Amino acid sequence: MASITVSFDGRQATVDAGTPAVVALKQLDPEAARGVIAVRANERVVDVSRPLTADAVLAPIAPDSPEGLEVLRHSSAHLMAQAVKRLFPETQVTIGPVVENGFYYDFKRDTPFTPEDFERIEAEMKKITKADFKVTREEMPKEQAIALFREMGEHYKCEIIAGIPDDTVSLYRQGEFVDLCRGPHVPSTGRIKAVKLTSIAGAYWRGDAANEQLQRLYGTAWATPQDLEAYLKRVEEAKQRDHRRLGQALDLFSLHPIAPGSPFFHPKGATVYNLLVQYIRSLYGRYGYTEVITPLIYKTDLWKTSGHYDAFREDMFLMSVDEDEYGVKPMNCPGHCYLFGTRKHSYRELPIRFADFSRLHRFEASGTLAGLTRVRSMAQDDAHIYCTPDQLDGELERFVEMTREVYGAFGFDRIEASLQTRPEKFLGRVELWEEAEAALRRALERAGFSYTVLPGEGAFYGPKIGFDFRDVLERSWTLATVQIDCAMPERFGLEYVTPESTTATPVMIHRAVLGSLERFIAILLEHTAGAFPLWLAPVQARVLTLTERTEAYGREVRDRFERAGLRVELDDRNEKLGFKVREAQLEKIPYMIVVGDKEAENRTVAPRSRTGGNLDAVPLETFLARMLEEARMP
Ligand SMILES: [Zn+2]
Ligand SMILES: [Zn+2]
Repeated sequence: MASITVSFDGRQATVDAGTPAVVALKQLDPEAARGVIAVRANERVVDVSRPLTADAVLAPIAPDSPEGLEVLRHSSAHLMAQAVKRLFPETQVTIGPVVENGFYYDFKRDTPFTPEDFERIEAEMKKITKADFKVTREEMPKEQAIALFREMGEHYKCEIIAGIPDDTVSLYRQGEFVDLCRGPHVPSTGRIKAVKLTSIAGAYWRGDAANEQLQRLYGTAWATPQDLEAYLKRVEEAKQRDHRRLGQALDLFSLHPIAPGSPFFHPKGATVYNLLVQYIRSLYGRYGYTEVITPLIYKTDLWKTSGHYDAFREDMFLMSVDEDEYGVKPMNCPGHCYLFGTRKHSYRELPIRFADFSRLHRFEASGTLAGLTRVRSMAQDDAHIYCTPDQLDGELERFVEMTREVYGAFGFDRIEASLQTRPEKFLGRVELWEEAEAALRRALERAGFSYTVLPGEGAFYGPKIGFDFRDVLERSWTLATVQIDCAMPERFGLEYVTPESTTATPVMIHRAVLGSLERFIAILLEHTAGAFPLWLAPVQARVLTLTERTEAYGREVRDRFERAGLRVELDDRNEKLGFKVREAQLEKIPYMIVVGDKEAENRTVAPRSRTGGNLDAVPLETFLARMLEEARMP
């Protein structure tokens, strides 16, 4: 028999061709082979029992690794399909891919699945895992596979197989169940130890609304029951923290069919929004930005020049006015370039940093709109910097510094950076792109960030750095971004006069720290569960009176705090203190200021913090001074 060379972690061995992957790995390192769910052979993840036919570099795939979880989750889709077929034999199976944290399977069945069916399916899945069926792979000529599935009444599978270009297809069997599949899979059904069905949704065959409707059952699967439990807890926590729920509970904003995807900010939400703008604005002086106000509506010639008309038109609100085509701006950059180009600039004026909090509109498809995270109307803490090539590194450094300062102010300490490079469709010259990517790399390295490279993920006009922040639910969000523009300055013919009295094209940088204010508010709401820091809380304190006798003093306290510039409410309703406290806590108000007879007499207050702690009674002015200090904008 022919032999092949296998290797792992610096060790090498010769084995017979056809040796199962896991057997070869065991020979190289018995410890590493223990408990694996699949094996990586060269760059492919394969079944543990897959016969090796050529030289291979091997690596173990543990159940809780990203690849291992993918194998587990896809195997769970087969498991679910097997259970469904046992319980509801009239069902036809279609496809069962892996999704984030889980899997789904689309079934054709005329009767809708009910919550009781869920329980039965889960119970049946348990039986199948208990039986610990071996999962085996076999290859079959296409025609034979079609005949096999036709006999089983699986017409969708026949259609899928007919569309596969290869002559043979692979099938996976476990017990009585067989499915068309490329694999890989777990070695036996008993390896699936933590799986749960989660939800059901409608779907169409091949994702086309003209086709038959299918039922999509979703599930989640993990390496251990502990991991599954932790995940379900995170999901529950995320539901509680959902910004749409909190936005309503805290009376911050609402969305209405009259303006899809365009939030109405209520007084409290507008307070938060304006404070964020005010905060960023307060940094602009120090970081050298000047604010501009530019039009919302332009003739589309603007975007023909910038290149957005070709690349972005589908996402714009367009209209015709006086024979001309106009559009509502989806971003500020072209307007800023136009403004820069309206007069001559000397190198002495650079860098010019235009900041703009303007409202922007993008035509997002109605199906994709979601709360404040996917909207049609938004504003960013946007700015564009025009500088000389020599100033580029300094500008990037300054931006990283500002991002660090802002993230620090919000306590965002888990930051991950990524470099997003030239996409397939791009504008501008390749040399410019390469220089720009190199400058971004230098900026990241100088700032001491480790970063991942996302090839091809840059914008069509330039490469980009994203600074992702990981929230309490372990979700990662890109907030701050900086991009070097390789196209727009040339397309707009922008120039400045150099020290040698020649003209040159300025370098253009796009940057935002918070990103979209709408999205930032959503993320901050979910991260803090609505408990904003004191400086940002729409209501910073509520005065709670104990009895009718203390109403006058309560009003006096409120007025005093308000005059000092704090946002304070008075609750002088004739209700029990416990009730008033609970309400204020639900509204996430940072401080409750309790005033009873004793406080009125001594001119003190008895504060409580939102987290439940009773603080000692202190003189009114002392507590006011303390709050003012804590409420200072960072
Ligand atoms: Zn499969
Ligand atoms: Zn821009």
